[in-house]
Amino acid sequence: MDTPSAPPGTDTPAPATTQRWRRWVAPAFALLMLGLPALPVSDFWISQSIYIGMGALVCLGLVLLTGVAGLTSFGQAAFVGVGAYTAAKLTLAFGWPPLLTLAAGVLLAVAAALLLGAITLRMSGHYLPLATIAWGLALNYTMANLDWLGKYDGLLGIPALTLFGLDLGTGRALHLLVWAIALLAALAVTRLLDSRAGRALRAVNGGASMAEAMGVSSFRAKLMAFVTAAVLAAIAGWLFAYFQGTVNPSPFALAKGIEYLFMVVLGGVGQVWGAFLGAAVVRVVSDQLQVLLPRLLGTSGNFEIIVFGIVLVAVLKYAPDGLWSFVVRRWPAPPRRRDWGGAPPLAQRPKPARGELLLEVTAVRKEFGGLLAVNDVSFGVRAGDIVALIGPNGAGKSTTFNLVTGALALTRGGVRFRGREIAGLGSRRIAQRGISRTFQHVKLIPEMTVLENVALGGHLRSHAGALRAMLRLDRAEERQLFAEAERQLARIGMAGQMHQPAGNLALGPQRLLEIARALASDPALLLLDEPAAGLRLQERQALAGVLRQLRGEGVSLLLVEHDMDFVMGLADRVVVMEFGTLLLEGTPAEVQASPTVRAAYLGMEH
Ligand code: ADP
Ligand code: MG
Repeated sequence: MDTPSAPPGTDTPAPATTQRWRRWVAPAFALLMLGLPALPVSDFWISQSIYIGMGALVCLGLVLLTGVAGLTSFGQAAFVGVGAYTAAKLTLAFGWPPLLTLAAGVLLAVAAALLLGAITLRMSGHYLPLATIAWGLALNYTMANLDWLGKYDGLLGIPALTLFGLDLGTGRALHLLVWAIALLAALAVTRLLDSRAGRALRAVNGGASMAEAMGVSSFRAKLMAFVTAAVLAAIAGWLFAYFQGTVNPSPFALAKGIEYLFMVVLGGVGQVWGAFLGAAVVRVVSDQLQVLLPRLLGTSGNFEIIVFGIVLVAVLKYAPDGLWSFVVRRWPAPPRRRDWGGAPPLAQRPKPARGELLLEVTAVRKEFGGLLAVNDVSFGVRAGDIVALIGPNGAGKSTTFNLVTGALALTRGGVRFRGREIAGLGSRRIAQRGISRTFQHVKLIPEMTVLENVALGGHLRSHAGALRAMLRLDRAEERQLFAEAERQLARIGMAGQMHQPAGNLALGPQRLLEIARALASDPALLLLDEPAAGLRLQERQALAGVLRQLRGEGVSLLLVEHDMDFVMGLADRVVVMEFGTLLLEGTPAEVQASPTVRAAYLGMEH
């Protein structure tokens, strides 16, 4: 796929004039929804639209949580309940004004999300969905059984919303507020997704090992998504309480939590506007079905649930990306306007002097149960050198590599980097110290552009969090990050491909992308795991050229490779491993002359 060329310093290929109108679609939609009350629309549709706005607010949280972070929550309705019950109780019992009940509801939801998240998000994938089910059931049970929350009858007689002396009622004025909040939330989530925190979140979804190696705390990223989703749900609940004038347990039951999930899956999980589409379709259709189905079937009951079940199966089979994906396919989103010309460079770490002993690996050992994968291996890397770790498949190279980068815990041994012990630090801490890596099996985020993928490498050199991104206070730093990403891509000769989705690249360029991403972290030492694996001859030669050039620029490299020929013309020193043991360390010439090494490789070939 060819991307039209962009002026230097921007991410925006000159837009075709036919695309320009698309920029106005979102603002026009916003204007329409905000202006709806002024149009001749019946009260029924105004109230439907209020429900849709509140539903979309909850769904926006799920877009972030499920669509982007890959975490499933069945408990969003319970967070809505927290917001609604807090508003109801504090209004009725203590006469608190709405802004205070909003603050209280949001704080409670944050506290609950932090607690649930802290318990489950460090564990593997399935604990969060289970915990949110438990949370949804427990909260519903609590609401239905506490006297002071009115049990099944709930709390009645909540006055309509009054803000700054203005009575918003439950109709057109409230519609304006609900949609203003929903649209602002959509804007905030959109901004978040196009930011350092958003890229980190996508990286976490792609696999924690890559995210952590880039310095992202996957735990914090997930917690941020979970808390944000809870806050959006609690705000929806707050609106709901004043809109209905009454709260009771049923709208916050587990079934509703599943319905919110259904909305985002239907609309397009991971798509901001899919949240609105899903909320609208489910609301309108379920309303019609509630009237229609009992008439058709001759008895009353919640038959729409059955229809939704069937629809869900059909959506998952025929449109797994949801309804919004049809819109996007037909009218692809216009390219993002981005411009980083003249952005000051990011701070760089002090570089080691050429020849300084950078990395000292001392008798590292790794046992996998009974298997001794790395047997007391020692070697060193000096600044400015290319050191190659070679050996037949299964020799323990990747394992050694993972011990150095902290991706695996050592059984014993020591690893010192720039004179400080790093053995036992997690991969994120080791990345902070200045070691960056690529992966034997390429790990990138296919739907992000090449440039955005490389910008992820600058994570540790930047600071803006989710809140700053939502308020667009992160732009100066973003410009710096993109300038850095472009610089690193230019360095490895890939500037021409920066606007492409990374998923469109062939394997060779994907490996180069990983190198650029690692370089964007300004490492003192770069570790490459089988960078030439799976490459064609031409791509190999290009890669060797890039690595030579990097050494010329003072980059220190440790690379793992099983192809001896690739490293011989490239490395300054070679470390040979076989069956977990170090066979020999020396110059390429010494290694080539060694009968033991030859035997090892011949043994492998026959
Ligand atoms: P190389 O990268 O040199 O091909 P590895 O370091 O991947 O070799 O593997 C060395 C040995 O350790 C192999 O026998 C491999 O099967 C084993 N091994 C690697 N990772 C694990 C693991 N996570 N659990 C158990 N055994 C492993
Ligand atoms: Mg390997």
